[in-house]
Amino acid sequence: MRTDLAAFIKDSPAGREADAILRKCVHCGFCAATCPTYQLLGDELDGPRGRIYLIKQVLEGHPATEKTQLHLDRCLTCRACETTCPSGVQYGRLLDIGRHLVDARVPRKLPAALLRRLLRAVIPQRARFALLLRLGQQLRALLPTALARKIPHRAAAGEWPQSRHARRMLVLDGCAQPSLSPATNAAAARVLDRLGITLERAAAAGCCGALSQHLDAQDEALDQMRRNVDVWWPAIDNGIEAIVMTASGCGVMVADYGRLLAHDPAYAEKAARVSALSKDISEIIASEIPVIKAMLAGHARHANVPISFHAPCTLQHGLGMKGRVEALLGELGFTLTGVADSHLCCGSAGTYSILQPALSQRLLANKIKALTAGKPAAIVTANIGCQSHLQSATALPVKHWIELLDARLA
Ligand code: SF4
Ligand code: SF4
Repeated sequence: MRTDLAAFIKDSPAGREADAILRKCVHCGFCAATCPTYQLLGDELDGPRGRIYLIKQVLEGHPATEKTQLHLDRCLTCRACETTCPSGVQYGRLLDIGRHLVDARVPRKLPAALLRRLLRAVIPQRARFALLLRLGQQLRALLPTALARKIPHRAAAGEWPQSRHARRMLVLDGCAQPSLSPATNAAAARVLDRLGITLERAAAAGCCGALSQHLDAQDEALDQMRRNVDVWWPAIDNGIEAIVMTASGCGVMVADYGRLLAHDPAYAEKAARVSALSKDISEIIASEIPVIKAMLAGHARHANVPISFHAPCTLQHGLGMKGRVEALLGELGFTLTGVADSHLCCGSAGTYSILQPALSQRLLANKIKALTAGKPAAIVTANIGCQSHLQSATALPVKHWIELLDARLA
């Protein structure tokens, strides 16, 4: 694609990056075939090629409008288009740059701006979020059904193993996951304990920064990243093997710390090390398959209960791990039902389900239909946002897949 970037951005790092991305795009339109919003709305401007065109216009000095902002807001940042693109266009990076420019030029109306501020003030703050969730759980009977459905029931984490092994890993507790699904990290700790690995928590670490980053509060996100790097550094210095992610949404963010903090001389090197150590829990389990298979040898009677796996966009498109968890679960003897259009987003997408509820609900309905077509006994996934979103629309249990493995090994 030919570009002629405006003087205000041409020679800046963001301008050079955007220019390089735009030049890779050959307008082929292959990406539209896998774009969830293009499929729902059928408007070129609600597909990746149209959004790229809108961002290019702003970069070239054309005015940004509320319409430009709307089409960019409707993007899920699912990055299915990146997986499909034959030219390697880094759409997600271009979108971050485009949204930042457009939001600076098109002020949001007060209610929308306040909602975004509120989301940033509550969700990344673990204690505040836990308090609000607890309140919602206690008042559930008084809430409108649509809201009550979104509030998960209280769940027990189960025991966190106390044994100390020579092999040690850290886990990111995150912000919302400890209260929404406390069993996830505890299950990961129990599974790893059986494999001779101690999973350590760093209580002072918090939100990975993804929520603020995606709501165009980059400085706030960078501060959250720096805090996590500082909190994790003593354990890294002390020889931990990996920083384990049990939410792929956080995983894709932490894997990017090195790039996002590359401009900060005090943190660049440490952030790159953190990113290198960041591993999705499936990567750890995949390297232990023979041991786990030996442990599972006496448990084959459970193997035929069908389950369906929802592949989060952050796992398959963000981390590029398409099909890996499905293959892992298959190898460990779980029976997976097929899921049509597994590349499509469930509509959770961070805060998308709150900011774009109508589109989000349509995607959710389609996803539940696809996930339940094979009559599974449960749905498993790999990201807390998807897990909560799916659970709001089905009576089937929806869990992280590591809980299933934990139960099987128990
Ligand atoms: S990130 Fe997802 S919703 Fe956005 S343009 Fe790409 S495929 Fe479409
Ligand atoms: S598939 Fe890639 S090269 Fe083709 S239009 Fe989409 S982003 Fe551009």
